[in-house]
Amino acid sequence: MPIYEYQCNACQEEFEKIVRLSEADAKQECPKCHSKRTRKRLSKVAAQLNSGGSPASNCGSGSRFS
Ligand SMILES: [Zn+2]
Repeated sequence: MPIYEYQCNACQEEFEKIVRLSEADAKQECPKCHSKRTRKRLSKVAAQLNSGGSPASNCGSGSRFS
């Protein structure tokens, strides 16, 4: 599951949270002041998602006898 970075608008606390994709846009509660006035920050996780398109063709079951 992806980790998103959030920043609290009330106290400027920055925190990371592992959320489902369906919950990524939901307001996350600030762990410091418990405000829900938080916003999602762009993180490096998004870049990792773009490079995850490698084909899974190299996973042969090692039954190679010679
Ligand atoms: Zn806060």
